[in-house]
Amino acid sequence: MFWLWATLYVLFFFQLSAIFTTVYLHRAATHKALTLNPVVELLMRAELWLYTGIVTREWVAVHRKHHHFTDVPGDPHSPYIEGLWEIIIGNPWYYKREAGHKETIEHYAKDIPSRWHDRLFLDNGMMGILIGLGLTMGFVRWLSPGHAWWYAAALGLGLYLTQAILYILANALINGACHALGYKNFSNTATNLRWVAWLSAGEGLHNNHHQFPSASKLSMRKTEVDPGWPVIRLLRKLSLAQVKPLPEAAIARQSSAIGQIPELAAEEAAQ
Ligand SMILES: [Zn+2]
Ligand SMILES: [Zn+2]
Repeated sequence: MFWLWATLYVLFFFQLSAIFTTVYLHRAATHKALTLNPVVELLMRAELWLYTGIVTREWVAVHRKHHHFTDVPGDPHSPYIEGLWEIIIGNPWYYKREAGHKETIEHYAKDIPSRWHDRLFLDNGMMGILIGLGLTMGFVRWLSPGHAWWYAAALGLGLYLTQAILYILANALINGACHALGYKNFSNTATNLRWVAWLSAGEGLHNNHHQFPSASKLSMRKTEVDPGWPVIRLLRKLSLAQVKPLPEAAIARQSSAIGQIPELAAEEAAQ
């Protein structure tokens, strides 16, 4: 029974982080494709702080720079420049390298505030990681109260690292494989990989995303699934998110490129 709960814990936080990354960090904060209710935004940001240690300003800046210099010199993590396996294995290092450049953050994340309380808590990634680790150890202790403290500490560390590695791998696949393998709907250097989209709440539909970065829905064909989109639709239904519709010209470009009315176009047009 313990291992069932432990596995569910790891998968739950891996997927929760994947969903919050795509909905909050990527589609809302970086590309402004939607606006989230401030409480929802804070909850998503706090979860990412605890289980990934990601600082919003850094993620937004590195990703916007990636869009600015996609697969040309200046791209923080391009398999065309660095090599596919270098990105798949070294993605966190490439991310950290760019996030450490003050100029990148100041230039690309001007609109993301860094107030004193941000700097004290949510912009302090290491503090988030340590608290998240402590919570995971507490969870193990609660699940198996009869064991010694070091048992909870060691297993808690194992669970925390496992969910972190899954998250890191999913992101490495997006930045590496989704610029090298897979199929294209549009002529840009990114690619779509359906199985990566399942792992990453839709981010694997990266060719679609590079073509229409401000689209809130990443799937465009009936056979493509974007698990982040139903989450956004639910938030919209609950009046916790406002989705910015794509301009008509973009919808028309999508339709002519794919040769059919894509799902996104149909849904956006119906709004
Ligand atoms: Zn990309
Ligand atoms: Zn993007």
